[in-house]
Amino acid sequence: MTPEGEQLLLEGLNALGIHPDGRAVNRFAFLLALLHEGNARVNLTALKTERDIVLKHFVDSASCLIGGHLASGEQVLDIGTGAGFPALPLAILDPARQITALDSVGKKIKFVDATASALELDRITALTGRAEHLGRNAEHRATYDRVVVRAVAALPAIVELALPLLKVGGVLVAQKGALTSDELDAGAQAALELGGLIVATETFTLPVLGDARSLIVVKKTGATSARYPRREGVPARQPLFWKAK
Ligand code: SAH
Repeated sequence: MTPEGEQLLLEGLNALGIHPDGRAVNRFAFLLALLHEGNARVNLTALKTERDIVLKHFVDSASCLIGGHLASGEQVLDIGTGAGFPALPLAILDPARQITALDSVGKKIKFVDATASALELDRITALTGRAEHLGRNAEHRATYDRVVVRAVAALPAIVELALPLLKVGGVLVAQKGALTSDELDAGAQAALELGGLIVATETFTLPVLGDARSLIVVKKTGATSARYPRREGVPARQPLFWKAK
């Protein structure tokens, strides 16, 4: 990482109230190098420049910590982690956190697994699979304390994928950009249908870039009906309570 990149990273994280130690900064630099190298082999992420990766992947991923909805030491599931976001930055900022990084695309999970080993983040488990299948698998259903999701689907679809996997009392933190009231309404109704409740919405702007962001925080208050999640692909194609325009 260049000195400018490191400065941007610190500026961005500090603006979120996060003050990484030297070990974390070194791991971010190593992660940047591995992303550049990995992207040259397989298409892992659309973001290629140091500035974009630092701000839109690293700092943006860390922004799911805003509001303190992810305490340390919990079982966290990252649904649709892609090349490891937000899972890898979360693990770098707190290596004690147990994180399962899930994606349906094997080559991305291979990258996350190899990267977690290279960075010595041994509490990350990288898993290839679909959230719809995990949600119906007794080993995973209702077992996570926290679910994080960034850039995967419309809010009601995210709720349907995530809530079955949470323990009662667990919390979903969905990272979104600016949200329309239609999407928020559908998400709120989906939460009720799945045994949850939107308990907080954090709105803020991404440091340095100023893009609108929001965190939708959904608490699971009761068991999810066995009807959910619906079949593979259905939650995202026909999000509950939401008519796409
Ligand atoms: N969270 C990452 C990747 C976003 S792209 C980031 O913010 O950079 C969305 C990812 O979700 C893709 O990698 C896709 O393969 C994965 N995905 C979409 N639906 C999924 C599902 N139902 N189960 C598991 N992974 C899914």
